Amino acid sequence: MAQYVCMYEFAVTPAVTNIRRRGVEIYDVAPDSLGAEMELESGDRIIKVNGRVVRDYLDFRFQTAGETDLVLEVRKKSGEDWEVELERAEGEDFGLSFEQIVPRQCANECIFCFCNGNPADARPSLFIKDEDIRLSFLYGNYTTMTSITEDEMRRIVEQRLSPQYVSVHATDLDVRAYMLGVDKQRADISTKLARLLDAGIEVHAQVVLCPGINDKEILKKTIFDLAAEYPRITSVAIVPLGLTRYNTDARLTRVTPEFCRNVIDQVTEIQKELHAKLGTNFALLGDEIYLRAGRRIPARSHYGDYPQIEDGVGMVRSFENEFTKLMRRLERESWTSSKQASGTIFTGTLFAPVLKKMIDKFNARFGTRLIVESLENSYFGGDVSVAGLLTGQDLLNARERVAGEFVCIPKQMLKSDDSIMLDGMNVNEVSRALGQPVHAINLQELAALLR
Ligand code: SF4
Repeated sequence: MAQYVCMYEFAVTPAVTNIRRRGVEIYDVAPDSLGAEMELESGDRIIKVNGRVVRDYLDFRFQTAGETDLVLEVRKKSGEDWEVELERAEGEDFGLSFEQIVPRQCANECIFCFCNGNPADARPSLFIKDEDIRLSFLYGNYTTMTSITEDEMRRIVEQRLSPQYVSVHATDLDVRAYMLGVDKQRADISTKLARLLDAGIEVHAQVVLCPGINDKEILKKTIFDLAAEYPRITSVAIVPLGLTRYNTDARLTRVTPEFCRNVIDQVTEIQKELHAKLGTNFALLGDEIYLRAGRRIPARSHYGDYPQIEDGVGMVRSFENEFTKLMRRLERESWTSSKQASGTIFTGTLFAPVLKKMIDKFNARFGTRLIVESLENSYFGGDVSVAGLLTGQDLLNARERVAGEFVCIPKQMLKSDDSIMLDGMNVNEVSRALGQPVHAINLQELAALLR
């Protein structure tokens, strides 16, 4: 499963149409690199390294690591088969980039699966149910381990694909099976998990919290069962169920502010107990739970080294701290905005009030005229309020609220390697429609823009 709001959706898109073939395809060869010297070209496929089959670029990386004498079996784009022998200096880079990994899909029927909340005509890539230990290692995507194969188990251990991110949801087997829509035998991953932990693989666990299903006593049991494996299981992230307007499953109950407040009260007590025993809070609540509850985001020390920040756990605290640091740095530099900048910053509805407070301080200190506007998610509707799932159309719907000379949007609104948004609109199109330059930026880039 991708991170629980499918942040990873864009990154897997190009892989969907690929047909599985032998080896791994070279996407690009850097000029004057070892790869270029070997006359490798984009479109060639590396089939084997030193007689061992290559399935993807992780295999290539693993099988070439530390090797200086290599024999590569290559299927050229032309169809010819080459055997390339080479010697390289230790650690010398090949200058090759490869096709993306084709994600393995899950065989679960989770009741809260985000795919069930897509509009019927959403792009096919939004329906990808990835469950892939390689993407877990590379990008922090979660897997449930319900259908992990022996080969994958061995690969994690042999190639040290650590850490792994595991969606546990509940350690009560009946509840886990119910949530994943599988039988109890498949839901039981205790033996597999123990095997990974015994092999020294670090595991981060996740719970998608569904009111009335895995909360209260079930949640408490889950946290304590997982904490019993600390430090082999490093942390558990608890994130709320998110429902779009298309989720109509009667088994699901929407997350309310009151529910969030009760969860915070319950988990704060558990954190105190665990902190006294383990020296860490271990169980960390998603930012969304604090924001929905209307409660203060915990301090920096609450999050340790932010073990699951990409899952929206500590992201707001980290942003606020970075923002404070940025303001201090600019103050030290006696910085002033050369343009007395005036513009509109759009973000998701939950984060907008938090960002507004910060930007108001910034304006007061530096004389800028920036305004923060919250953007409703018209594509998914429902509880979806994170910036990463906003679309170009959402921006167009808010055109009357655009003020100043430019528009800023969060970088997460764009595909990681392109300026396209979730609904296929690109930044230039939106910019033309709004009649303003649109900048998809992070914090540091905002400061640079204002100079
Ligand atoms: S069915 Fe479950 S495991 Fe599969 S993608 Fe959906 S939420 Fe993830």
